[in-house]
Parts: sequence; C-alpha cells; structure tokens
Amino acid sequence: MSETIEKYLVSTDSTFEHVIQRLDENSGGVVFIVDDNEIMKGILTDGDVRRLILKGISTDKVVNDLMNDNFVSGSINSSRSENIKLLNNKVHHLPILDESGIPVDMISWSDLWSLPIAQPFLGGNELKYITDCISTMWISSQGHYIEKFEESMVSFLGGGKGLCTSSGTTALTLSLAALGITSGDEVIVPNITFGATANAVIQLGAIPVFVDIDSRSKTMCPVAFQDAITNKTKAVIPVHLYGHPCDMDPILEIAKKFNIYVVEDCAESLGAEYKDKKVGLLGDVSCFSFFANKVITTGEGGMVVTKDDSLLGKMKLLRDHGMSPKRRYWHELPGYNFRMTNLQAAIGLAQMEQIDKFLIDRREIVDIYNKKLASIKTIVRPVEESWAKNIYWLYSIELQDNDSLITKNMLMTRLKSVGIESRPVFPPLNNQPAYRSDNINSYPVSEKFAKNGLSLPTANGMKIGDAERVCNLIKTILK
Ligand SMILES: *Cc1c(COP(=O)(O)O)cnc(C)c1O
Repeated sequence: MSETIEKYLVSTDSTFEHVIQRLDENSGGVVFIVDDNEIMKGILTDGDVRRLILKGISTDKVVNDLMNDNFVSGSINSSRSENIKLLNNKVHHLPILDESGIPVDMISWSDLWSLPIAQPFLGGNELKYITDCISTMWISSQGHYIEKFEESMVSFLGGGKGLCTSSGTTALTLSLAALGITSGDEVIVPNITFGATANAVIQLGAIPVFVDIDSRSKTMCPVAFQDAITNKTKAVIPVHLYGHPCDMDPILEIAKKFNIYVVEDCAESLGAEYKDKKVGLLGDVSCFSFFANKVITTGEGGMVVTKDDSLLGKMKLLRDHGMSPKRRYWHELPGYNFRMTNLQAAIGLAQMEQIDKFLIDRREIVDIYNKKLASIKTIVRPVEESWAKNIYWLYSIELQDNDSLITKNMLMTRLKSVGIESRPVFPPLNNQPAYRSDNINSYPVSEKFAKNGLSLPTANGMKIGDAERVCNLIKTILK
C-alpha cells in the first residue's frame, strides 16, 4: 500500500471526530472508509462532513452509519487514462482499488489540473536576450538592455522617462526619498493595498496615514483623502488596485490645492487607463513592479517613471549610491543601491514585446468571468468605471450573503480541492501589527471588502476553457 493512500483511510468503526481529524491532517478533502480486511466500504468528502456538522450530527457517532457507500472507484487493472475519465464535476477524488477492493492508490483532480492565481509567461525572446547577456558578459547593472527596457516602457506609456530599480518597493522608496519625504512627514496611503506601499513610507521615517477606499472601484476614496490631510501631509500614494485606476482628477486637484506630491503606485496596473490616458504619467512620479505575479515580470524588479527631469536626476543619483556621475567615488548624497541587472532588464524587454498580447488575453478571460458569473446573484463582479480601462491584474469578486465569510472560505477550499487557486483580498492595513496606530479614522468600506472579497485566477497563459471551468465550478459550489 502506498504511503500516500494511507493518510486517506479510516476504518468503519472510527468516530466522526476521527474523520474530521483525518481530513484536517491530509488536507486532501476526502477520506476512504475501509473494513477490518481493508476493503473499501464508503467515502466522505469535506463537503459531506460540512453537511453532517450543519445537521448537528454528534462527533462520537460511528462512521459506518454516516458514510456514503455509493462511490465511484477506479481499478488497478485499468489504464491511467481510463481511470481519469471517471473524474468529473461530482467525483473529485478517485480511489484506485485492487482485485479484492482494497484501496491502493488515488487520483485527484488537483493532481491533474492546477490553475495558479497568477504566473509568468516566458515564451518570447527572454531566453535569447538572457543568452546574449551571458555570452557578452554584461550581467550586472550596466548593459544596453537596461536602457532598452526603460525605453520600451515609456514608449508604451506614451511619455516620461524611466529608471529601472531592483523592485517595486525600492521604486517607491526611491521616489519618496527623491521628493524629500523624511522623518515625521505624513504620506496618505489607501487602507487596501499590498503592505509594500506603506513599508516604503515607514522606511524613510515618515508616517503612512490610511484612508478608506471607494465602494465601487476599491481604490482610494478622494473624499477620504482630503479629510485626512494635515499640515504634515507631504505626499499621497494612489494605488491603482488590482488593475483599476484611481479616480485621478479629484485626487490631483486636491493634491495641487494642498501642495502634496502624487506618487502613483502602478505595481498592479501596467496598461490601465484613466480617461484614455495610461496610468503612470498622471502624478509627479509613478512606480511599477515586475515581481513574478505581476502583469509583466523580470523575476524581481521595478521602475520609476516621471516627466520631471530634475526629479529623474535626483532618483538616479540616489539609486546609484548618491555618487556623482561626473566625479568618481564622490558622494553628493548618502544614497542607495537600488539598481536592476542587465539580465533582469533583458527579460523585461522581452516581456514588453508581448504586453499587448498579455492584455488582450487577460481581457478574454475577464469577458468569460463577467458573462458566466453574471447569473449568480450572490456574487458582485469587479467594476470598470466609464472613465476607466481596468486591466484586471486580479479578478476580485465579492460575495453578498449573510454568511459571506463562511461561504468564502468554503468556496476557496472547494476550489483548492480541484486545483484552482484563489486568494482573499488584501486585509486592511490599519489594524495589522506593523501599522497599528492611534489613528481614529474608520474604514467601513475596506472592512466590508476584506470580509467579502476574493480573487480568481487571471494567470498569463490561462485558456478560455480554464475560465469557463472555474465559473462552472463556482456555480455548482454555490448552488
Ligand atoms: C507588488 C506590489 C508592490 C511591491 O512590488 P515588489 O516588486 O514586490 O517590491 C507595491 N505595491 C503594490 C500595490 C504591489 O502590488
């Protein structure tokens, strides 16, 4: 008997409690029930167990009286493909039995089909350009791919100048440092974002002030932004969350009125548009990330983009140790080393050659989600405001029922059991250990979104059939 199958077995005289423990240990979503001769008699899935718990079945009840004895099984004498054919929407786990009916192996849907929430696609010129770096030995932070990658980015955005950095987070730190943000300054940050937005502020000794999000776009609420301004406020970081742009006109107007710098966090929104203009050129400076799960990747990496040449010069200086470009080993400022390597930029250039296709493919997946999920009344789909082009970095839905948290966890577990990854949305920053403060602002919209929201896969390379399958499964699960 294989070691893997053993952890799925319980005997007919076990208690219900033991089944729950077993499910918890094997985290495979199923147990197979065997008699004294190890012959399979029944099955219980985590769904069955949940139903039994809801019915109020006592945990000391014997499994023999609870199990489902009408189960589908494969045979050790059948070919693997014959066995696989027995898996379907209802049968996610197939026990494989020997001639006497003893389980000797199993096949799970999740072994055959796994769909990550995001993944890179490296099918263009990545390898060719990397090979060029290696064969010419330009592997560090000089080399022509750096400039080419920066140029490809600004030509895609339609203006500005770019400067590669070692990550999206260092792009944020660099921007804020170059703008002179320092100890005691306040920087306004949306309460729902990846923590790096706030970390960059804190690393400079400044204070992130969290504001609530808009209930539709889930991006920073302009009114909340204005309400949070004090005489210490020096900058605001609108985050174009999950690929949807912030409502920039009011944000820019308020920022101008109060003399506040605007640093766009575009880590999740390469290609998104606000009123037909690409995000990344709307504020004083913008920051992109090329981590592996972003729209394009360089493994790790980032970029700052600005139209302001003097700011660009300051960022370049700070990025390169604060060292004068004119005089060697002469430090004008105590700077950083936030550079990207030529190797990473080579991957980035190859990725930018494919950006249009990536965005079109993503849109096709989203169209399927939008169409097929529309009939499920308890799901609110992500919006695309009339002034926006959302690139749907992640497709984040909200569940609308009284027990949305329970439903959400159940949905995520069930999707996981068939190999589909989903994620809860970012939890609000204001009450996380790293950021807790005496701040008395309230965040009803963030809290509701965090409770109800989860993201579905939009991985590069995903097929239309994958999206259809995700939708069909969600429909079955929520029924
Ligand atoms: C990913 C991300 C970052 C950080 O980028 P890294 O390249 O991982 O450092 C910053 N802000 C947001 C909104 C992000 O999603």
